[in-house]
Amino acid sequence: MKYLAAILIVLTTLFSCDKKSEQTPVVKKIVKPKADNSDFGFNYADFNVVQDTVKKGDTFGTIIQKQNIGDRKVHEIVQSVKDTFDVRVIRPNKAYTMLRSKNKTNKLEVFIYQPDALNYYIFDFRDSAIVAYKKTRPITIRKKTIGGVLKGSLSETLDKSGVDAGLASQITKIYSWTIDFFKLKKGDRFGILFTERYINDSIYNGVHELQGMFFEYKGKINYAFPFVKEGSSGKIEFYDEDGKTLKNFFLKTPIKFSRISSRFSANRFHPVQKRWKAHKGTDYAAPTGTPITTTASGVVEQTGYTAGNGNYVKVKHNSTYSTQYLHMSKILVRRGQRVTQGQVIGKVGSTGLATGPHVCYRFWKNGVQVDALKLNLPTGEPMTGNNKTKYLQNIEPLKRALDSIGNL
Ligand SMILES: [Zn+2]
Repeated sequence: MKYLAAILIVLTTLFSCDKKSEQTPVVKKIVKPKADNSDFGFNYADFNVVQDTVKKGDTFGTIIQKQNIGDRKVHEIVQSVKDTFDVRVIRPNKAYTMLRSKNKTNKLEVFIYQPDALNYYIFDFRDSAIVAYKKTRPITIRKKTIGGVLKGSLSETLDKSGVDAGLASQITKIYSWTIDFFKLKKGDRFGILFTERYINDSIYNGVHELQGMFFEYKGKINYAFPFVKEGSSGKIEFYDEDGKTLKNFFLKTPIKFSRISSRFSANRFHPVQKRWKAHKGTDYAAPTGTPITTTASGVVEQTGYTAGNGNYVKVKHNSTYSTQYLHMSKILVRRGQRVTQGQVIGKVGSTGLATGPHVCYRFWKNGVQVDALKLNLPTGEPMTGNNKTKYLQNIEPLKRALDSIGNL
């Protein structure tokens, strides 16, 4: 038990981009520097420092107007900074800092507006000509490794490990075809390699890049690594350790040997009803009793009988796709059952509105029926040539790092 408890680790890796970062604690909010520090390129010891946030109803004009900056008119200031800063973009709850002169005039010398943690604008009133400029704080990228054994639900475990909710949902999406995250069990192992952005080396600014991961699921280690294939549109896709995509492809047809007897169409003459109506499926004619297979893995969402559909089965593959199979002579699965691609779920028949034995194959995308033959679904072609060589080279050190978490 003690051993198990020790396994859940959160470690900032030793090969961090910046040596100092190993000791720096993770701070997930913007920290206002103390007045004896320096920031924005100014030594706070040289000024009276006032830090505040924009209040509702404040404008750049109203904030500046209240300051003792001599006889300069707000209008004149707005005009002179307009090339750098549109004063209308000042928003409530954003931070600003005022640096006042230390002498008895306490005059505003520098005004700094921070629209976000990364960027800031400086308005320097010290010279007769106002100087305004925008700056971006330096970003440090740090590698992070988390992993161990699931101690509760996945989200609880990731949360305890300090993983961004955004990263957790990205991970769920990447594995949506391969892992049912609700079925992960206590004791299943996982590992995630990613990088984080830090502003000024100390302020957490979000996840930079997911580099690789694995989840143990039903006794199998499922790896995922990002890669942009040469000649692709530049989109990052995730692949397993052999370069196979993590997406589950649809089989072209739900029956092995068949011919298409009727295509998806907005308007066709219905052979039984003798009238024109939409046909939102593809019909494959085959002898009664021919096995019908699910074209992708998933969970049986519905089974049943209606006068039109006859005996039918609907399978949900993920949050986007479902498929439906009609006119069966026999249903071989039940609702809630998990089915794998190619599994026989029923037999061809002519129940419901049908002139002869066939399966009407219906394809649902985001709840809408679409033509399966026209869908631009990902191709199952394995990675080859240069792509594969480069990919395997890329993942080699990442996989080694992940395996070392797994072996703890
Ligand atoms: Zn049909």
